[in-house]
Amino acid sequence: MNAYFDNAATTKVSEKVIKGIQPYLTEQYGNPSSVYSLGRESAKAISEARAKVAKAINAEPNEIYFTGSGSESNNWALHSHQKIITSEFEHHAVLHVLKEPVLLPVYSDGIVKPIDLEKTLNDNPDVTLVSIMHANNEIGTIQPITELGKLCRERGVFFHTDAVQSVGNVPIDVKAMNVDLLSLSAHKFHGLKGAGALYVRKGVKLPAFIHGGAQEFGRRAGTENVAGIVGLGIAIEEAVSEIEDKNAELFKKRERIYDAIMQIPKVQLNGDLHNRLANNLNFSFEGIEGEALLLQLDMSGIAASSGSACTSGSLDPSHVLLALGLPHEIAHGSLRISMSKYTTDAEVDLLLEKLPAIVEKLRAMSPLWNG
Ligand SMILES: *Cc1c(COP(=O)(O)O)cnc(C)c1O
Repeated sequence: MNAYFDNAATTKVSEKVIKGIQPYLTEQYGNPSSVYSLGRESAKAISEARAKVAKAINAEPNEIYFTGSGSESNNWALHSHQKIITSEFEHHAVLHVLKEPVLLPVYSDGIVKPIDLEKTLNDNPDVTLVSIMHANNEIGTIQPITELGKLCRERGVFFHTDAVQSVGNVPIDVKAMNVDLLSLSAHKFHGLKGAGALYVRKGVKLPAFIHGGAQEFGRRAGTENVAGIVGLGIAIEEAVSEIEDKNAELFKKRERIYDAIMQIPKVQLNGDLHNRLANNLNFSFEGIEGEALLLQLDMSGIAASSGSACTSGSLDPSHVLLALGLPHEIAHGSLRISMSKYTTDAEVDLLLEKLPAIVEKLRAMSPLWNG
């Protein structure tokens, strides 16, 4: 038996998506820019997907631009601005774009405080854009986007939110939330990898990002990923319609996991428990190396993630956990558990059966542990 607890990294593609994209992988291969009917069918499919994405976040179809990923959407939203305020715990697809960002703190609860944004906006009148993520990808904490957006709107500063983790998990209304730009990515809500979108509120100036053909209203050239875009439309419609029922189930599973793991000695939850995605838990275990924990879990058939897992091969702990004020050695011993609608009680059983014994075994071998 295997258990998958890494849905913040990517999710399983839904059956509806697989079925719905089938024609665009086989007979409906026309180029959407072509005038003959095979091409027009593809163009029509894209415009239907655009309407679905718009409806899911209360936008207009001509405010939705398809991109190749959530990372691209973030890069695009930021690239024409010189002075930007963001937070210390944004995704790298925001932080690595910026040369000299003004950084807001997030504190131990993992929440950006509107009062800090207000002060920082007042101290930096040359700022033209603020970018604060909706839900954090490591600790799942949900930011007060409506209030943050309001502060920006009052000052005529553009407001972008990276909503890659929250779309399909919490309801989104770009109008009510005072958002000017919003990033999303299909593979985080059971669509395909390589298909994202950027919402750009009408009236917000945004220069073209990829130059060439006239695709995406002349602002993002390149023949469209038709199957990916069709899949994105199906996935977002499906995910948004299921939010309430799904979260009711996830809250039950999350409570079970939380109660059981908090029984382990010297463990802490990272980030606020309540302002948090229903599918996310992130713990630190004293005296443990996150990488070792992941390998042990993998040997038991359990996939999860750790803040110390680093694609660059360095063993620097997660910038997110450091931003919460965690000491390096505690940040190193972290475990992210992220669920989806496909997570079963049997998977939770397996996790709760294996994890306490693995923690005990690793601590017994650890020079860091003197408990
Ligand atoms: C996954 C993720 C991204 C990147 O999205 P891709 O489509 O994988 O490029 C950006 N921001 C957050 C918060 C994410 O979770």
